Amino acid sequence: MLIDNHGRTINYLRLAVTDRCNLRCFYCMPEEGIVLQPRTEILTWEEMLRISSLLLKLGIEKIRITGGEPFVRKDLMPFLSSLSKMDGLRQLTLTTNGVLTAPHVPELKKMGIRSVNLSLDTLDRNRFFAIAKRDELLRVLETLDTLLHHDMEVKVNAVVMGEKNSLDILPLVELTKNLPVNVRFIEEMPFNGGNEIHGESLPWNYLKIIEVIRDRYPLLQKIQDGEYSTSYNYHIPGHLGSVGVIAAYSRTFCGTCNRLRITPQGLLKTCLYDDGVLNVKNLLREGYSDEQLAKALTNTTNHRAKDGWEAEQLRNEKMPVHESMATIGG
Ligand code: SAM
Repeated sequence: MLIDNHGRTINYLRLAVTDRCNLRCFYCMPEEGIVLQPRTEILTWEEMLRISSLLLKLGIEKIRITGGEPFVRKDLMPFLSSLSKMDGLRQLTLTTNGVLTAPHVPELKKMGIRSVNLSLDTLDRNRFFAIAKRDELLRVLETLDTLLHHDMEVKVNAVVMGEKNSLDILPLVELTKNLPVNVRFIEEMPFNGGNEIHGESLPWNYLKIIEVIRDRYPLLQKIQDGEYSTSYNYHIPGHLGSVGVIAAYSRTFCGTCNRLRITPQGLLKTCLYDDGVLNVKNLLREGYSDEQLAKALTNTTNHRAKDGWEAEQLRNEKMPVHESMATIGG
């Protein structure tokens, strides 16, 4: 079992399989895109399988595939199929923007994938275009339908970005009326590839988001959050689904953080806000044995920052956080 230096169990890996994306959500990357890593600098599928297998032996039980957009990388499905058969893996999930996902849903289900996080910030086609610079809302909604049709558990993730989409909060909450989805509103973080962002304080923090929902639904009830949940969850009487808020900028959930991240370029992050604390790709390519790799991984998890504020302070690069979330995986 992996336990960090603050006594937290680590059993969850978020693996970002590409830094490429077919949307240009302004809170994630500039319209012209980001400087992409040369393909040789991105972990190969074989390298990802090896590091996953090793981490599963060390105590990881759940793996989430993310990106960039996972479905833009060629051969994602055979990779998922191999991963899904690995010993020790209790849960395989994905985070996707839903543009290319619908046709793959039946096969995902056959592999044993039971839950998918779908990013969707608005139900309005014009605002979708304004946010993502691509007219793809209809394909995302088709993915939502297809996932539900196949009885997949769906979490809809919406970033709340002030005047850009605060009007979308209530229509997204309305989705939970007739659909069994968990709609979660995420505080905007500074991982936007360099765009300007709010100052020190976040205008649309989780408390304000909840206030807007409670104003409209005064009977909003707090429900029990899962053991390692990053969201505070609520239920509206009479609704099939639930709503949640993720204090991703306020960082209120670090005390129970159970996750590691591996970026497409093979950096291990023990916190979203650090700038990579172990270069796994170099170790793999230098020919490290499984034993040597395991030692490096456990040593790194034994030197984990207490929380996202400390991790941000310890960054080698002292500039404010600005890299694109597409290079991290969210
Ligand atoms: N392409 C996939 C998707 O859209 O879900 C996976 C990668 S995306 C980087 C993962 C998540 O990060 C998405 O839900 C996205 O909305 C979120 N995200 C990206 N930039 C963010 C930011 N600056 N603040 C908060 N969340 C962000």
